[in-house]
Amino acid sequence: MMVVGRKVEEEEGEYNQMKVEINDFDKKLNKLTFIVSDINPSFANAIRRLIVSEVPTMAIEDVEIRKNSSILYDEMVAHRLGLIPLTTDLKAYNLQNECTCKGVGCAKCTLKLTLSAKGPKIVTAADIKSKDPKVKPVDKDHLLVKLLEGQELEIEATAILGVGKEHVKWSPGHTIYRYYPTVKIGKQPKNPEAIKELCAFDVFDVKGGKLSVKNELNCTHCNACTDVLKEGEIEVTGDDTKYIFEVESWGQLEPKEIVEKAISVYKAKLKEFDTKLK
Ligand code: SF4
Ligand SMILES: [Zn+2]
Repeated sequence: MMVVGRKVEEEEGEYNQMKVEINDFDKKLNKLTFIVSDINPSFANAIRRLIVSEVPTMAIEDVEIRKNSSILYDEMVAHRLGLIPLTTDLKAYNLQNECTCKGVGCAKCTLKLTLSAKGPKIVTAADIKSKDPKVKPVDKDHLLVKLLEGQELEIEATAILGVGKEHVKWSPGHTIYRYYPTVKIGKQPKNPEAIKELCAFDVFDVKGGKLSVKNELNCTHCNACTDVLKEGEIEVTGDDTKYIFEVESWGQLEPKEIVEKAISVYKAKLKEFDTKLK
């Protein structure tokens, strides 16, 4: 594929270089917003799919329940444990199918976690003890089960690296992309305040009775404004060569790390394809 790409470049002589700008990093939401220019919809979707399905994270895969007198069935406890996001150290662990142990399970691809609790108690992710301080529950308050007097829970769990295409519990976060928006006001609408309120994304402002565009990049092309206005009052367009990406991490990895890993997975896939083609 890389060979084909080079040929096209040589024959056609022109390739717009892609541009990437970081637009915003929301620390509270752990969300990175960036703009990529000079790509097409297929490439934008490839990036999204790589982020959601191919970036590995740690999650509990096997659960050995030694004691469970809680109200929940063993399966439900195991399911809840599997869905707890764990902070992930990508340098320290291998995917099992790529590990030197050939998937048998070793310290480079598996991690043991334990949980021991007696009621009365509300059991949360804070009660999970990990043998690796770098891999632990993202949110200590993640609720597991409420134990009443005399109820007990004793568990040994194994976490492994996995990817979202196998199970969503390994997905590193949520990502969306949208066309880069342009919002133009032509003729002033009769009801500027109503249009401002109609937009759920705070795109408009009203000053001196006139509608203006305040946060153009917030526009999601929902068309709520254009649907109620006459032609020529507001025009909303999207550039299909320029995309706004939002990557919101569930906490296992930093958003930047998620994007970097997605790109390195993509490169590895292209390299494999190139090698096999030869
Ligand atoms: S299309 Fe939707 S998001 Fe964009 S400006 Fe209109 S109402 Fe707001
Ligand atoms: Zn291993």
